[in-house]
Amino acid sequence: MPKLKPSATHADLETVLVSESAIKRRLKKLGEDISHAYGDEEITVVAIINGAILFTADLIRAIRNPIRLDCIRISSYRNDTRSHGRPQLLHSLQLDIANRHVLLIDDILDTGKTLAVVVEMIKKQSPASVRTCVLLDKIGRREVEFEADFVGFQIPDRFVVGYGLDFAERYRNLPCIGVLKPHLQNPPEWA
Ligand code: 5GP
Ligand code: MG
Repeated sequence: MPKLKPSATHADLETVLVSESAIKRRLKKLGEDISHAYGDEEITVVAIINGAILFTADLIRAIRNPIRLDCIRISSYRNDTRSHGRPQLLHSLQLDIANRHVLLIDDILDTGKTLAVVVEMIKKQSPASVRTCVLLDKIGRREVEFEADFVGFQIPDRFVVGYGLDFAERYRNLPCIGVLKPHLQNPPEWA
């Protein structure tokens, strides 16, 4: 097997905020916390794609409970490093969540607008409960009141990519989370 070359993988990053090994360790603990919180209940996991794809895939393997999995797609950020407008639902749930325990998973909690809107949408479908889990929480950025039930890491107010998080759909496959070099944050050819 060829050896990974971290320097090549991370060449576009100015700083690595969360390493691959830190993610692995934290996910194990998060999986235990979630399993503990739900006891013997089945969990209906709802992942907000695309950002939460990698996190969800790894996290659910660390949860012991029976799980049903569904995805929704929301638009809020475009090819930009700042959020704008109200989040819109682009792809809705396929599973019936009435009377089910829903665990909503997103990549990052920033202004709080996305999760606040999605939680309201989910509650309209009469679930038994709704909890939220985010990989990252940008402290001090909230524009609406919202706290997640389970948080992977609190990070400072920097635009981050990697481990599911993108800039203009790139960098989702980086195994760590980091900040892009400034000159890469606005390449016109990626618009
Ligand atoms: P909120 O609605 O809380 O402001 O934003 C949540 C969404 O904004 C996330 O699901 C994510 O798509 C996007 N977002 C917020 N901060 C970042 C960031 O630092 N990097 C990336 N790639 N996306 C972000
Ligand atoms: Mg997102």
